[in-house]
Amino acid sequence: MINQNLIAPCGLYCGVCGIHVATKNGDEQLKEKLAKAYGDTPDKINCQGCLSSSVYWYCRVCSVKSCVLEKGYAGCHQCESFPCDKIDNFPVPEGKRNILRAIPLWRKLGTEEFIRAEEKLFSCVNCGTGLFRGARKCRRCGTLVAPAY
Ligand SMILES: [Zn+2]
Repeated sequence: MINQNLIAPCGLYCGVCGIHVATKNGDEQLKEKLAKAYGDTPDKINCQGCLSSSVYWYCRVCSVKSCVLEKGYAGCHQCESFPCDKIDNFPVPEGKRNILRAIPLWRKLGTEEFIRAEEKLFSCVNCGTGLFRGARKCRRCGTLVAPAY
């Protein structure tokens, strides 16, 4: 069953976002790490997904999300203008790289298959534990993760 709240219109699927993974698993250690990376406090590391009513502050206001919703689309994969200047100006380079990788895939596979592919891409090759974008090693078995992008 797909959690609709996690289907970020920009293609940065929330199911493989560290903030959401830390929230979902109640992983305090991961929250602490992410808080450092985002210049935040661990108690703020909380997100139920881009389209939920409890969105991490960083993603709360997003020009890509506003644009997609305004156009009545589910995601940039339905938009002829992709990749537009909103994507080009995306503030996080790693995010932009992932958007440019993910949207064509979403277009090609459709939502369900796309999400399955993202979850597979961001999981440990050794033990299958779900990881997240930017993870360098598996939290469970310590296997180093080859960058997926
Ligand atoms: Zn592992």
